[in-house]
Amino acid sequence: MSLTGKTAVITGSNSGIGLGMAWELARAGANVVLNSFTDTSEDHALAQEIADKTGVTARYIQADMSDGAACRALIDTSGACDILINNAGIQHVCPIDEFPADKWNAIIAINLNSAFHTTAAALPMMRAAGWGRVINVASAHGLTASPYKSAYVAAKHGIVGMTKTVALETARDPITANAICPGYVLTPLVEAQIPDTMAKYDMGRDEVIEKVMLERQPSKEFATVEQLGGTAVFLCSDAAAQITGTTLSVDGGWTAL
Ligand code: NAD
Repeated sequence: MSLTGKTAVITGSNSGIGLGMAWELARAGANVVLNSFTDTSEDHALAQEIADKTGVTARYIQADMSDGAACRALIDTSGACDILINNAGIQHVCPIDEFPADKWNAIIAINLNSAFHTTAAALPMMRAAGWGRVINVASAHGLTASPYKSAYVAAKHGIVGMTKTVALETARDPITANAICPGYVLTPLVEAQIPDTMAKYDMGRDEVIEKVMLERQPSKEFATVEQLGGTAVFLCSDAAAQITGTTLSVDGGWTAL
C-alpha cells in the first residue's frame, strides 16, 4: 500500500492514537502534518523524527481545535489535505447533574465541532485533488454509552452521525468518510482516568484495568495505536474505496456484546 504523494493532516497528534496514526501513514508513504494546541520543541521534534525515520515530509502545526477559525487555518496552512484524520479529543467523567458547563462545552468543541470545521475546509481541497479520505476517530462510545461520560458520548455519537452525512455528500466524489471506533487504548487520555478510578473503587492499578476498564472489552486486551494506525491506512487503500459512511470498530468485541 503506497500513499506516496498524499498528505495526511491528523488533529491532536502529539501523543496517543493520533501520533500512532501519523507513524503508520508515514510508513505507508504519506506526508504528515501533526497538530496540537501546544507549540514546544518536543512537538516539532516528533515530526522531525517521523521525517528522519520514514523519509516523508512531516510538519508540526500548532492549532487549538477548540477554536473553529484555528481548525480551518490548520487545513489552509497545511497546503494540501488528501487524508483528514479528526482525532483530537478530551474526556471528563462526572454525573450529568454535576457536569461543569465549561467541560461540556470544551468536549463538544474539541471532539465534535473541530471535525465540522476541518472537514468543511478540507473537502474543496480533496475535490480539487480528485481523491480524499475523511477518517473520524470516534469511539465505542459513539455506538454505546457509559454512565458519567455524557458529553463524550454525545460528541462521539454526534461525530458518527456527521460521518454518515459527509459520506452522502461526497458519495459521487472519489472521497470516503468513515469513523473508527476504538475500544480502550492505553494512551495518556486513558492513563489519566486510572488514578480517580482506583480511588473510586478502592482498587489497585491492575484491578482497575482488568475489572473496570476492560470489563466490557471481551478480548481483555487494550487495542494498540499501531493497530489503529493500520486501520487508518486500510481506509486509505483502494480496497476501501467503496467503504463509506460507516463505522469500523477496533474494540476487542466490546460492541458485539
Ligand atoms: P491522547 O490524550 O493521547 O490524545 C489526544 C490528543 O488530542 C493529544 O495529541 C492532545 O494534545 C490533543 N488535543 C487535546 N486538546 C486539543 C486541542 N484543544 N487542540 C488540539 N489538540 C488537542 O488520547 P488518545 O486516547 O490518543 O485520544 C485520541 C482520540 O481517540 C480522541 O478523540 C479519543 O476520544 C479517541 N479514543 C480514545 C480511546 C482510548 O481508549 N484511548 C478510545 C476511544 C476513542
